[in-house]
Amino acid sequence: MTQLGIYVQVPFCQTKCTYCNFHTGVFSKELYTPYVRAVCREITEFPLLLRENGIADVPDAVVDTVYFGGGTPSLLEPASLAQIIDAIGASFTTQFEEVTLEADPETVSAEKSTAWREAGFNRISMGVQSFNDAELRAAGRMHRRADVFRATEILRAAEFRNLSFDLIAGLPHQTDRSWEKSVEQLLQLRPEHVSIYMMEIDEGSRLGLEVLQNGERYSAKALPTDDAIANYYEHGCRQLAAAGYEHYEISNWGLPGFESRHNLKYWRREPYFGFGAGAHSFNGSQRWANAHDPAAYADSRLRGHYAVEQLEIVTQGQALEEELFLGLRQLAGIDLKSIEDKYGARLRPRVQDLVAQGLVEWDGPRLRLSPERLAVSNEVFVQLLE
Ligand code: SF4
Repeated sequence: MTQLGIYVQVPFCQTKCTYCNFHTGVFSKELYTPYVRAVCREITEFPLLLRENGIADVPDAVVDTVYFGGGTPSLLEPASLAQIIDAIGASFTTQFEEVTLEADPETVSAEKSTAWREAGFNRISMGVQSFNDAELRAAGRMHRRADVFRATEILRAAEFRNLSFDLIAGLPHQTDRSWEKSVEQLLQLRPEHVSIYMMEIDEGSRLGLEVLQNGERYSAKALPTDDAIANYYEHGCRQLAAAGYEHYEISNWGLPGFESRHNLKYWRREPYFGFGAGAHSFNGSQRWANAHDPAAYADSRLRGHYAVEQLEIVTQGQALEEELFLGLRQLAGIDLKSIEDKYGARLRPRVQDLVAQGLVEWDGPRLRLSPERLAVSNEVFVQLLE
């Protein structure tokens, strides 16, 4: 049997965070019900979508991981989330091991948490981002530090034994001290899994645009420097290691046995099907994505139209690049020889320079990112894929 992941995209948010460059937004609640119906219909009639687009199914697949991401999926009624999980159960062979819901701290209530457990969720990923209220406010987040403590207590009381917290290194107004305090408080709550993302600025967010235009409204002038952001990340690496977390991917840590099984599928190039507006899928040889606009997506699916966007056959060359790029994101690194054999490629000359620069290193037969240079891993990928 092939273990298959399912991703469900919920693109609705309460506000738009200043740094966010995702295809998500604030939509009328009136769209929620038709959107959920459209997702359920897409799941139920998925064989039709595959046929109409000339996409190969994944044979002998058993769905063991489901991930509801966004957006803010916890904004949907628990009954709607349960409806989607039921549609997955009715349409695929399932043996759920990990069923994750992304939730923003202020949306967590005792009633909802109980309903989430009953619907089948066993993992909650909270967008904490910071424990500093001034940073949260400037970033346009709805929650405050106290909400994270309150939400954690509620989720633990509802017997969630697998929590993941996200932090962002590089928020406006962040300082050495405020970052250290955020990490300290995160460790106090001891989630089973942690993600630390280094702030990336591009013109896709309001904050990014402001940086380019030299404005002041979203605190662009209070952004930490790149060096400070790298220091925050490295401080996070040290503190999490000391607290017993295993660093298994550039941005991800887990207590032993708590790596994200679903996200590992992306880095290992294992198959996953995505449902909802803008969701991406991969069957091992083809990649495709749904239309981004939620209203247009819901409208087409509810009319029984299943066209997808950006359908592409992954070439051998692309597959090789993905093996390198996604494989090296994992701290265990890659078995270069077996990749060379698989693709009939000579890769050693390509990596020699990187080894000489100390950006990557050999760990027995495996090539991995140098642990002390993880903060600059983008340089490795740029050079490697040139
Ligand atoms: S909650 Fe997440 S997806 Fe929504 S605007 Fe904020 S960062 Fe973007």
